Amino acid sequence: PDLFHHSICGLYTSTSLFPVLWYQTHQYPYGIVLDAGSSRTTVYVYEWPAEKENDTGVVSQTFKCDVKGPGISSYEHNTGALAKPLDECLNKVKERIPVHLHKSTSIYLGATAGMRLLRLQNETAANEVLASIQNYFRAQPFQFRGANIITGPEEGVYGWITANYLMELRFSGKSEGEKETIGALDLGGASTQISFIPEDSQENFNNTMQVKLYGYDYNVYTHSFQCYGRDEAEKRLLALLLQSGISSSVDNPCYPRNYETTLTVKYFCGSLCTQSLRPANYYPNQSVIFHGTGDPGLCQEMVSLLFNFTTCRNQEDCPFNGIHQPKVKGNFVAFSGFYYTINALNLTGHFSLADFNSSMWFFCSQSWAQLQFMLPKSEEIYARSYCFSANFIYYLLVHGYNFDAENWPQIHFQKEVGNSSIAWSLGYMLSLTNMIPAEGKLIQLPLKP
Ligand code: AMP
Repeated sequence: PDLFHHSICGLYTSTSLFPVLWYQTHQYPYGIVLDAGSSRTTVYVYEWPAEKENDTGVVSQTFKCDVKGPGISSYEHNTGALAKPLDECLNKVKERIPVHLHKSTSIYLGATAGMRLLRLQNETAANEVLASIQNYFRAQPFQFRGANIITGPEEGVYGWITANYLMELRFSGKSEGEKETIGALDLGGASTQISFIPEDSQENFNNTMQVKLYGYDYNVYTHSFQCYGRDEAEKRLLALLLQSGISSSVDNPCYPRNYETTLTVKYFCGSLCTQSLRPANYYPNQSVIFHGTGDPGLCQEMVSLLFNFTTCRNQEDCPFNGIHQPKVKGNFVAFSGFYYTINALNLTGHFSLADFNSSMWFFCSQSWAQLQFMLPKSEEIYARSYCFSANFIYYLLVHGYNFDAENWPQIHFQKEVGNSSIAWSLGYMLSLTNMIPAEGKLIQLPLKP
């Protein structure tokens, strides 16, 4: 934890610990960011009018491409296969950007919790994946600016910058008391982030980042919970269910009634997040049949076991896992995995906690056949898990972050503004290219060699 703390403070408050460099403002009106997430890679193309690059809010997303196949961390034994699906998206990107600008267009790749976990589990494998990616991009016509694993706090803060940039609360330079920002809630596959300006932003919490934007200092509380991403949390649930079952056939109250699937133990116990939950006799290739029972009450009970509240006993401002958190404050935007789930429940924007609970209960009570009718276009792997995701979101927001019936409606579930996705990638590019208008400088970033 100490190292973690220092790295945050080092990154954002000390210029002496790390070499700090500033990229020149872009001369060209395109930028490309690859969000290498745990479950997939997404390519974003951003564009801005050349002469107006210093104005607020002019950068917008003009193209997005989901790279086929899993996230890059899944290629640890097969790095040779990384190129082909990337090519498919990059070929489309090449068509979008005039050929004479390819060479001068910067391309960045940021990897998140999937790669952070792989690095913890097998550093050599993580380095090999990154090296293959680097080789791949060096052969591309664009100006490659590096493939880096970003930290959890960076991911949180970049998401916060994106949200505020797109929501037009653009750090308008009011006096300290009047500045209004929006908090950011991001649910990825392997980690989840919360970032906001607390009531007392001067309090020196371990997880506070000093962000200098538009010449103003912001103390952003941010925390990234590893293994609390949607996919990793569900793997932990499956591992727990296997522990409580006796055979290779297990009931899952969070899967829809009459749904059945066969998974290998490796699928859910092979991850670092479930290592401690592996059965005593761990046979990675053993198959387990999960039967959905569609039982909302029992699902909620099982989901509660994914949160460790005991480390917080009798401590104030400690939601779970012993992590300090100031009281949530103001409006929030909840994107990525939060949005997909809420959308599946047929909800959108903001709504009451009671409405959320009744929609969740209704959804979780549907049989698999009924669900397929309700969600005709949804992929099986997503459709079977929305009930789990909804319960997980409920627990995380209400029992984890301490939202209640009163402030729940201040959370807006939204995935984009205009055509621009709310995701850390835009904030990352704006920061790295010095594109956020500033009297002073932007976030100070250490640039890795
Ligand atoms: P991402 O935004 O790609 O990091 O995904 C965040 C979480 O949402 C992951 O758990 C994904 O499995 C899940 N997810 C991604 N796309 C969809 C979708 N279209 N519908 C439902 N869930 C999704």
